[in-house]
Amino acid sequence: MRALESYLSGTWKSGTGTPATLVNPATEAPLATVAPATDLAAAVSFGRDRGGPALRALSFRQRGALLAAVAKLLHGHREALLDLSQHSGGNTRGDAKFDLDGGLGVLAAYAELAETLPADPWLLEGDAAAIVRTSKIRAQHLLVPRHGLAVHINAFNFPAWGMLGKAAVSLLAGMPVLSKPATSTSALAHRIIEIIAESKLLPDGALQLLMGPAGDLLDHLGPQDVIAFTGGADTAAKLRGHPGVLRNGVRLNVEADSLNAVVLGPDLAEGSQLWDLALRDAVIELTQKTGQKCTATRRILVPHERLADFRDALAERLGELASKTGDPLSKAVKMGPLSTAQQLTDARKGLASLQQHARIVRGDPERRDFVDVPAGKGFFLEPILLEANAGTLTDPAASFHQIEVFGPVATLLPYDGSITEAARAIALGGGSLVSTVYSDDREFSAKAVAEIGPSLGRLVLNDEKSAAGAFPPGCVFPQANHGGPGRAGGGAELGGRLGLELYMQRIAVQGGASQLARLLGGKPAA
Ligand code: NAP
Repeated sequence: MRALESYLSGTWKSGTGTPATLVNPATEAPLATVAPATDLAAAVSFGRDRGGPALRALSFRQRGALLAAVAKLLHGHREALLDLSQHSGGNTRGDAKFDLDGGLGVLAAYAELAETLPADPWLLEGDAAAIVRTSKIRAQHLLVPRHGLAVHINAFNFPAWGMLGKAAVSLLAGMPVLSKPATSTSALAHRIIEIIAESKLLPDGALQLLMGPAGDLLDHLGPQDVIAFTGGADTAAKLRGHPGVLRNGVRLNVEADSLNAVVLGPDLAEGSQLWDLALRDAVIELTQKTGQKCTATRRILVPHERLADFRDALAERLGELASKTGDPLSKAVKMGPLSTAQQLTDARKGLASLQQHARIVRGDPERRDFVDVPAGKGFFLEPILLEANAGTLTDPAASFHQIEVFGPVATLLPYDGSITEAARAIALGGGSLVSTVYSDDREFSAKAVAEIGPSLGRLVLNDEKSAAGAFPPGCVFPQANHGGPGRAGGGAELGGRLGLELYMQRIAVQGGASQLARLLGGKPAA
């Protein structure tokens, strides 16, 4: 079996110590091993001292051209990468594309953004501001690339998108990257870095790969470094409390759990295009990537009078998916397994907690037979739909407001059709990545912006007019902010140009109006 090495300090390095075995989640067949890497201090220095200066010597446009070249390179390996994603991540072909093409899409989007950026090594923010009305002294805000290393710690569910998406933004901003994929699904991330390293497209030290655990990596980070973390809230808490991270003021961005909600407006009529969209989206968000998406819908708010119709229609569609759950390599299969044995255990445990405040209306958490899967093998869970018990909607202790079951699971929450009650319930989730409103009532949607907005990083508004072209809410586009307050981690990633801020330092440059205009190239100051 192949031992997957880390790519650190410009070379492939074997790990030492007890290796972890990566398996195909559908069959449990072993695929590769990963052992902990050592000498991470040297890798941090290599990134900072070799990768950083080499990237900063390039303009934004030149760095954008590198992103475009990497996207093109990986596109040439797309079929083999999709195949690996299916074997190593339990993905259907559609799920594999969602991950890989999503990553290539972020590279392409940031390559395109680079075309719009200036030739200067900084980005101006607005115009120079007068400090005192009678004085010629001005303050101009701008962003410069940080002189440190960007450490990217990713979750298991998107080994391609998570890694490439973060790398695209960081490299364009001018910061070198050390990427640490989640161990269980790291075979795909490893192959992607292998392809990029072989190509020698990127400067030495611009993109390193740490396989296996993070070890003492964080101990070596300093004030110019950035950690972009995606994963569970418990791990995030450990990173936030890390003594070196605290002492050195290492910038930390956290993308964590999220109890995303959708709201069916009181005007939503059965049989309308918008109703069909809400149903389509609910099915996709429950079952795409087997529900292992940070943006997947977990809470579905439905007006009392529409509940039975929506529940029955959704349960029927999920039933179809349940009969097509199995080994994603089988043509008949539309939904694959969870990624690891631990995920399955956690999902079943989470379902038991949800049932304290809701009842299962579709699905069997204990089902063991799946399409084309050897008996007793694989980490499968069929789609499960729950309905909240009467009187629990605005109970702060209700488990569906507290527990993210990271699988094909969502809970229907009947509500009174007012945005006030919907917003109250959504806020009880403690901060989410995304919420979605399906309504043709403009006043309802406008109120949603003001009342639900503070709980979110992104709000999707769907009406009858836009229904035909609408995307499922779990699709994260590089142009839109990704992140959310509170439970969701309080982070912000992507969002086009805004995403660059994570890897750049904002400074106010203060000086004479004409000097600032000459040096920085902003608008001539009045
Ligand atoms: P996890 O267990 O928290 O692991 C996330 C990453 O952190 C992995 O690379 C893991 O490495 C690493 N890690 C674990 N302990 C660490 C430590 N002490 N120091 C440094 N790194 C450490 O989460 P997961 O199970 O992979 O992902 C599932 C969670 O991620 C879900 O809760 C989901 O909501 C969240 N998620 C959020 C987003 C978002 O954008 N908001 C996106 C996807 C997923 P090992 O694998 O080697 O342990």
